[in-house]
Amino acid sequence: MKIIENFSDSKAISSNSEDFIKLYKPSTGEEYAHVPKTTRDEFEKIINKMKLAQPLWANTPITKRSEILFKFKNLIEKNFDLIAKIISEEHGKVFSDAKGSLQRGLEVVDFACGIPHLLKGNHSINVGTNVDLFDIKQPLGICAGITPFNFPAMVPMWMFPLSIACGNAFMLKPSEKVPQCSLKLAELMSEAGLPDNVLTVVNGDKNIVDLILQCEDISSVSFVGSTPVAKYIYTECSKTNKRVQALGGAKNHMLIMEDANLEDAVNGLIGAAFGSAGERCMATSVAMPVGNIQKPFMDLLKEKASKIKVGESLDPQSEMGPLITKEHKQKVLSYIEKGVQEGAKLELDGRGISLQGYENGNFVGPTIFNNVTDGMTIYKEEIFGPVLSVLNMNNFEEAIKLINKHQFGNGTSIYTSSGSLARNFMKNVQIGMVGINIPIPVPMSFYTFGGWKGSIFGGHGMHGEEGINFYTKRKTITSRWPDDVAGASLNMPTMK
Ligand code: NAD
Repeated sequence: MKIIENFSDSKAISSNSEDFIKLYKPSTGEEYAHVPKTTRDEFEKIINKMKLAQPLWANTPITKRSEILFKFKNLIEKNFDLIAKIISEEHGKVFSDAKGSLQRGLEVVDFACGIPHLLKGNHSINVGTNVDLFDIKQPLGICAGITPFNFPAMVPMWMFPLSIACGNAFMLKPSEKVPQCSLKLAELMSEAGLPDNVLTVVNGDKNIVDLILQCEDISSVSFVGSTPVAKYIYTECSKTNKRVQALGGAKNHMLIMEDANLEDAVNGLIGAAFGSAGERCMATSVAMPVGNIQKPFMDLLKEKASKIKVGESLDPQSEMGPLITKEHKQKVLSYIEKGVQEGAKLELDGRGISLQGYENGNFVGPTIFNNVTDGMTIYKEEIFGPVLSVLNMNNFEEAIKLINKHQFGNGTSIYTSSGSLARNFMKNVQIGMVGINIPIPVPMSFYTFGGWKGSIFGGHGMHGEEGINFYTKRKTITSRWPDDVAGASLNMPTMK
């Protein structure tokens, strides 16, 4: 049985832990690896090494840090298919999807390569007589990242490239369900020339998360995962005064107005609702057609969704892979059952799929509920599977009120040909990321990713300017040099 290792001293290191988490392939259900729950002693040894490594790294010229990131970018490009294959195998998303997610992670590395420019401070000369005022951005020290299962490469890459570019050391605790991708990325960082222990990978589950939260030597925690855990991380971090960015769950609505291009909207919705088997924080899980398009909308949606080819993740014919674990599949199936019990109309039923040769895989097909209401559990809670709820709306106002009332506020989108409606939506919707005729409005790396309401704790989003500010402490310096020798010798005029 393969035993997953940790990463420190620029190499893979075995844990002595006798406590393991078993990993099963999402497509076949076959047990393939054990993840150690790293011990406290091993965790502390790694932190002590990081404490020595970080000040030297922070003193490494910024151009050298950028050079290492450029090399890392090249190494990812060289190993692109290999990393995408790891993602696809351990997560279960289809290969094209895995490649797409890696590309989005790579864009953050591109952004981090520009660190010499991004860390420039402000400088005001002569704010008083011979007085200058300026600010600098300094690293925090040791930062930690705790990541979810659904983006094995992209979410870690939202974090460590920027943190390290800013001069920090970074400890990554990947999801225990998908640990292999993080190890490959750490290996490539080291190959790119990153000194020992500036990036480490420590495996485990809540046991390591709690050690991170309690550790006085860790200055910040970047978390992405479910809302209850995000809230826990945020609360616990305050006890040791850590800076925290904690992104949580989602329920993203797509509003389709009567004047929308229906074909375009449904095509967008198909990818947004069922891509990656709905295991995306930006997946659209609620569609809201308005007025008299409801019937043609449902007809077209069902026609297209029923053609999605569900299959093994690395099969080039597959358009949608399995769910991450048996337990998660069971959870999704119980939500479908709940939807039926609560009276929603099951238009397309993804239960009972059995694929020849993959009978033990965690497959659930595209599922569509119609006539869902805001009181139903399948509307209120995040399902995180290929289950789409359709709420039929009378008008724009009714829809926007519902969206704004929902506990989550990650992403949303509107399909319309009216500029004025689109503008009204963009301005008044209480959601962090908004798409106009775009199904999944994920911002590029030079902007910031993050939701509102129950989708974020701590207020700091990922990457972009907020990412740089998160991973640095601002220091503001007021300086006065009373004898302006150069100015005096040049006979420069001064105001008396
Ligand atoms: P999760 O919350 O179960 O796990 C995330 C991380 O937290 C893992 O590393 C895990 O080991 C750790 N963890 C789990 N339970 C814990 C506990 N009780 N105490 C301390 N640590 C714990 O999330 P997941 O199932 O891996 O990922 C899916 C969730 O992540 C969904 O809710 C999804 O919406 C969310 N997500 C959000 C975003 C975003 O940007 N907002 C992006 C991706 C995923």
